[in-house]
Amino acid sequence: MRVSVDGTKCEGHALCAGIAPTVFEVNAEDLAVVVDEYPGGATESEVRSAASACPTMAIALGES
Ligand code: SF4
Repeated sequence: MRVSVDGTKCEGHALCAGIAPTVFEVNAEDLAVVVDEYPGGATESEVRSAASACPTMAIALGES
């Protein structure tokens, strides 16, 4: 799974970092940063939950 965040949509509420803290961090500019672009295993379900919880649908998931 490949994870990316659309910085033009992110509003920095950090829901993603709360759900999947090994994949997302929120930087000093209140933008989510992907720190693990290719998470695997059990982390994938956390990332799917984070993507569903994101209020602005800023998180994109790919298959590569
Ligand atoms: S949950 Fe969505 S809007 Fe909030 S910080 Fe994460 S990517 Fe940005």
